[in-house]
Amino acid sequence: HAKGMGKNRYALCSSEMKDEMARQGEMINLLYRAQEKEQLFLCYQPQVDLKTRRVVGVEALMRWDLPGQGIITPGAFIPLAEQTGLIQPIGEWALLTACRQAARWREMELPPLRMAVNISVQQLASPHFSQRVADILQKTGLPPRYLELEVTESVAYRDIADFPMRLNQLKKLGVSISIDDFGTGYSSFGRIKLLPVDRIKLDIQFVRGIEISAYDRAVADAVIEMAKGLKMKVIAEGMETTAQLEFLSRRMCDEVQGYYYFKPMPAAKIEKLLRENCPVRPAMPEPLNNGV
Ligand code: C2E
Ligand code: MG
Ligand code: MG
Ligand code: MG
Repeated sequence: HAKGMGKNRYALCSSEMKDEMARQGEMINLLYRAQEKEQLFLCYQPQVDLKTRRVVGVEALMRWDLPGQGIITPGAFIPLAEQTGLIQPIGEWALLTACRQAARWREMELPPLRMAVNISVQQLASPHFSQRVADILQKTGLPPRYLELEVTESVAYRDIADFPMRLNQLKKLGVSISIDDFGTGYSSFGRIKLLPVDRIKLDIQFVRGIEISAYDRAVADAVIEMAKGLKMKVIAEGMETTAQLEFLSRRMCDEVQGYYYFKPMPAAKIEKLLRENCPVRPAMPEPLNNGV
């Protein structure tokens, strides 16, 4: 009897696994065609300077409009793209699109705005990456100082000897570098020291914990202090509440990015925001449903 049950369980497991694999395979096929079918687009989430309360930058965030399935957020497809190598063409598309958009905003003579673009570790590992970035800057006419490349903290501890060299190559183009999701990886100060870092993005988990966890407050504090000591800027990710805003302002965190002020939004809305160019006020008490 027990044996029979075991067999059954095994059969169930394996058919579930097959379903999951088929589903992933299907997603990969769809993703292959997403770019040429123009189903990918970028949203932009404003970054706010805490001293002036003005929008000083945006982060480009990828979205996939898959017919019949609605808008898919990157958590559901970036990992697949990374596993299959698709991140190379898709990531390059995002970089080009973001730089083009930033260049267009500059032509409109809106207030200056930094454009941050997420870069996967596979893109950084490609030997031609910095040349591609240089080409894109040239093609779009965006002055390099307006482009910021976000690499996750895992890049800092990857045992790839020439990552510091690669980041330095990018820095030489005149772009800036930020370390994303800081506090979640395993980087050591010895490694970070080798990297030309302009900005640290305090991970959302510590920002979320500000009201409820002494541990998270201590980490937030320490990261802000460290950034100041190392002459880096610090931006808090995922700020949603007034209490978090008060804490981060008191601690002199430079910038914030989060639903409290703005969700990721289409380019046209950013334009409107920049035209108004006034200090931001909280977008509360809107319900915190998903960003586009
Ligand atoms: P990330 O770079 O850490 O981006 C920040 C994420 O936090 C975004 O999720 C953003 O929508 C979300 N967020 C911002 N403020 C808040 C808030 O107040 N509350 C909450 N709950 N969330 C907030 P999103 O757009 O789903 O992107 C997820 C991740 O996907 C990004 O994390 C990034 O790692 C990756 N990603 C997005 N676009 C690209 C891309 O073009 N290339 C690559 N390689 N990765 C990308
Ligand atoms: Mg990011
Ligand atoms: Mg992040
Ligand atoms: Mg993240």
